[in-house]
Amino acid sequence: MNKAQIFDFFNRLAEANPAPRTELEYGNDYQLLVAVVLSAQATDIGVNKATRALFRDVTTPQNMVELGEDGLKQHIRTIGLFNAKARNVIALSEILVRDFGGQVPQDRDVLTTLPGVGRKTANVVVNTAFGQESFAVDTHIFRVGNRTGLAPGKTPLAVELKLEKRVPQPFRRDAHHWLILHGRYICKARRPECWRCPVADLCRYKTKTPAP
Ligand code: SF4
Repeated sequence: MNKAQIFDFFNRLAEANPAPRTELEYGNDYQLLVAVVLSAQATDIGVNKATRALFRDVTTPQNMVELGEDGLKQHIRTIGLFNAKARNVIALSEILVRDFGGQVPQDRDVLTTLPGVGRKTANVVVNTAFGQESFAVDTHIFRVGNRTGLAPGKTPLAVELKLEKRVPQPFRRDAHHWLILHGRYICKARRPECWRCPVADLCRYKTKTPAP
């Protein structure tokens, strides 16, 4: 895709959804961080089901430390990998209390030093909580970037760096939301719904799905 086509691509996704938001439910930066950590290899819907009750009582890292690992497990046992996630959430909450005054750091590299926080999680948090222009490449964005030709790459990091270079203003801040939603609801993994895709003429995917 050339520059004009990339602009057109995001312009169309933006027209369809001018103010995209994460589908995870949260009330503050800390809860967002916890929700994103819990969402690894789980659906946002599943995470929301578990966090609705949890976040009523737990709004700060200190609350989480007081709840403890066993208490947290009771809330999140419906989420995959809940044992490891509970351990990580308690450990990162202890670090936030001890080293960061209970605040979520705004620096991506600092965030990735926390237990259970990888580059993708940190990119989501700095983008969604702090409005930074970061590109968190999950399975949906990886697929859309490669299929369309927008940001081809063999690894999530390669796709992220391509997006970093290619996505123009004014779309940089919300690009990752648009790409996730596009991948989740239209450019689906097993059967992309090309017949109703708003960017089909810009996409280089060869075996487009015909209308049913
Ligand atoms: S045309 Fe098909 S493959 Fe291309 S972006 Fe749209 S849904 Fe995905």
